[in-house]
Amino acid sequence: QANERESMYLVSEFAQKYFAETLWESELGKAIGLTYFKERGFRSDTIKKFQLGYSLDEWEAFTKEALDNGYKIDYLEKTGLTIVKGDKKFDRFKGRVMFPIHSMSGRVLGFGGRILTNDKKAAKYLNSPESDIYHKSKVLYGLYQAKQAIAKEDNCYLVEGYTDVIQFNQTGIENVVSSSGTALTPEQIRLINRLTKNITVLFDGDAAGLRASLRGIDLILEQGMNVKVCTFPEGEDPDSFARKNALEDLSLYLQENAQDFIQFKASILVKDAKGDPVKKADTIRDIVNSIAKIPDRIQREVYIQECSRIMDISEDVLFNTLAQIGKHEL
Ligand code: ATP
Ligand code: MN
Ligand code: MN
Ligand code: MN
Repeated sequence: QANERESMYLVSEFAQKYFAETLWESELGKAIGLTYFKERGFRSDTIKKFQLGYSLDEWEAFTKEALDNGYKIDYLEKTGLTIVKGDKKFDRFKGRVMFPIHSMSGRVLGFGGRILTNDKKAAKYLNSPESDIYHKSKVLYGLYQAKQAIAKEDNCYLVEGYTDVIQFNQTGIENVVSSSGTALTPEQIRLINRLTKNITVLFDGDAAGLRASLRGIDLILEQGMNVKVCTFPEGEDPDSFARKNALEDLSLYLQENAQDFIQFKASILVKDAKGDPVKKADTIRDIVNSIAKIPDRIQREVYIQECSRIMDISEDVLFNTLAQIGKHEL
């Protein structure tokens, strides 16, 4: 089994090198892939740091190259790089810019591939399937590049997408990782928890996902971490915002807009429930549920006081609700 996994790592590394070489050295790679990255404002050193690449828009360009270099079809299929149908073989990724996903120690586990158009019908990103080396619930994109900065800054920015991680790095903020569009898992949080107790969650400024994401943050509280959140102006995400701003302005924006998660959630809930008593009752349960996740008793008490003020609800009501939830002895 260990041998099988090693073979899968090796073929993934070969794929990363092949896609990067295609990007930098082939005519089509330069004309299409590199042009795409440059138009997004990525510098050459940034593209190299993240080992980005390009997959040709052909049916089996990569698979053929891998087989010619002695890699076995078994491992090409197991990593999902090649799709085998009867006696036909297809590249999974074709005509996409490629984002390799690394383990904490820098081995290539899988890929995200983005189409180059903004065609709403095609899936924008295609990812490697789960495999013996790629478990997406246990991986954070960018952690390999970010781990030292996270420890040094004693904070980790959590963003939604690949390009947010990359653009932040290029702007000069390196302590940033992404769960790549999927809901955050306890395993992913543990990876960060070993490096810092402080997470700042950065939301795309599209509001749609925001309320849905609030729930997932309780998982971070549960691990005893301090959570701040920061939103971006309507229509901006961390990538587009970082691209428009110099490091000083970006840092200042984060400093001024990062807000304690519980306070943030409480003020959103207040707005949502305005003038609706039934809804207000729900919001009390909702916020107290979050507070109940915090392991530290003193912190819980401070938050109850804070929320009582923000939501204009008596501390007694909040404490009683907390007691009913009963996760922690008071
Ligand atoms: P871009 O700036 O390239 O358009 P983005 O990172 O801003 O991409 P979002 O739509 O904000 O894209 O999505 C955030 C993340 O969710 C993406 O980086 C990607 O990891 C994941 N994602 C988005 N769309 C898809 C999809 N169709 N299939 C799988 N994953 C996706
Ligand atoms: Mn989004
Ligand atoms: Mn986005
Ligand atoms: Mn984006």
